[in-house]
Amino acid sequence: MAESVKCNNLKIYIFNIIVSISILYYALSGLASKDHYKVLVLGGGSGGIAMAARMKRKVGAKNVAIVEPSEVHYYQPIWTLVGAGSKSVASSGRPTASVIPSGVTWVTSKVAEFDPENNTVHTDSGKKISYDYLIVALGLELHYEKIKGLPEGFEHPKIGSNYSVKTVEKTWNALKNFKEGNALFTFPNTPIKCAGAPQKIMYLSDAFLRKTGKRSKANIIYNTSLPVLFGVKKYADALWEIVKKRDLNVNLRHNLIEVRADKQEAVFENLDKPGETEVYKYEMIHVTPPMGPPAVLKGSSLEDEAGWLNVNKSTLQHKTYANVFGIGDCTNLPTSKTAAAVAAQSAVLDRTVSRILKKQTPDKTYDGYTSCPLVTSYNTVILAEFDYDGQPLETFPVDQSKESRVMYHMKADVMPHLYWHGLLKGLWGGPGPYRTIMHMGMK
Ligand SMILES: Cc1cc2nc3c(=O)[nH]c(=O)nc-3n(C[C@H](O)[C@H](O)[C@H](O)COP(=O)(O)OP(=O)(O)OC[C@H]3O[C@@H](n4cnc5c(N)ncnc54)[C@H](O)[C@@H]3O)c2cc1C
Repeated sequence: MAESVKCNNLKIYIFNIIVSISILYYALSGLASKDHYKVLVLGGGSGGIAMAARMKRKVGAKNVAIVEPSEVHYYQPIWTLVGAGSKSVASSGRPTASVIPSGVTWVTSKVAEFDPENNTVHTDSGKKISYDYLIVALGLELHYEKIKGLPEGFEHPKIGSNYSVKTVEKTWNALKNFKEGNALFTFPNTPIKCAGAPQKIMYLSDAFLRKTGKRSKANIIYNTSLPVLFGVKKYADALWEIVKKRDLNVNLRHNLIEVRADKQEAVFENLDKPGETEVYKYEMIHVTPPMGPPAVLKGSSLEDEAGWLNVNKSTLQHKTYANVFGIGDCTNLPTSKTAAAVAAQSAVLDRTVSRILKKQTPDKTYDGYTSCPLVTSYNTVILAEFDYDGQPLETFPVDQSKESRVMYHMKADVMPHLYWHGLLKGLWGGPGPYRTIMHMGMK
């Protein structure tokens, strides 16, 4: 009898432990997926992760969440070198879980709807999340489908695009299998990220074809929608010199509208002669797709008339909602969309949010700093750095419009480290302070 009572007591004791563990487990799960955060970050790309890391230091990890659907985070700038065969695509990606700052909640969904009047967003999994402060870092969208014949044309060989992880290795395949004919490179009729990338792959292809003895069989053509080769005169002048020296053909105001991949033909419209089109045969083509703002912004009160996130160009604060901020490619900041710009913006936004958290007015101003390492061969780079006004804002006390081996090393080896261990940890806010030191306080 006494034995049986002891046994029952033990069973009750074990049952109670199981129930307690279950309650604790659900309580913790509930906490993990709570529906209100002091700081909510939308997008876990360059800007989103950098800001989450910075906000974690301000308000504590448990008060920060990131909404990001992708399992892999990519360092996109290295895709230029992947397309040219000098880096592997695997080296560009890391699990998203490994870049989310520890303790910060990762909501693996897409944001589907904004409700800034009620400080709330809705996700595609039906979750409603509210916030005190919202940081929008949704990047931009690629629109291959706006070119007739794409994206299905990528099923054929001879065509690639460094702008997507799905097509970047196709660029290298087209280049290494090049035999004879036209090598075409395009720039679309929309704002894009890294406006130098469409021509960097042209210079690398030229260098590759020279190295492999095929250059005399190639006619290299850069058809761009823009009226200029590059937006900043100092660097454009240097690039025109290279184009002439290397016998590269540049056609301004030419916009790709169709790819007939089965026939290896590309159709361009002449933007200065409406209705006039030209067909080019190709042996290889690199396509830079049209790009646009995140579709989810459309129809929300957060967008400007062109669909980009409508922020103050100095403070990065939303023009209507004082507790909403933006960073990176999704914003209407009138500067070139790059990770380098994101770095400089992250330092300013960090300061802006800190001041607002203390009920003070923002006092740090973003000058539009952006940078584009214009890769001109397998061992040279022109390091363009400039501000909102297109004025050079160079870090080093040398003429950066000259091709440099050191700058190539910076692009290929140093910048990836700065990205993974500096920017994404919220520790790299751009070269501003170093510029001042390098120029002995004169810049
Ligand atoms: C080929 C190439 C070369 C480049 N070269 C350079 C260079 O040399 N130097 C340089 O500085 N920059 C370069 N860039 C540009 C740079 O990579 C981008 O400007 C930078 O990554 C922008 O950061 P972001 O945070 O704004 O956007 P991203 O890093 O693109 O991140 C946006 C994130 O938002 C997520 N997202 C999208 N929609 C939703 C949604 N509905 N809900 C939740 N999350 C969503 C995406 O999954 C993504 O993770 C290059 C880019 C390319 C493609």
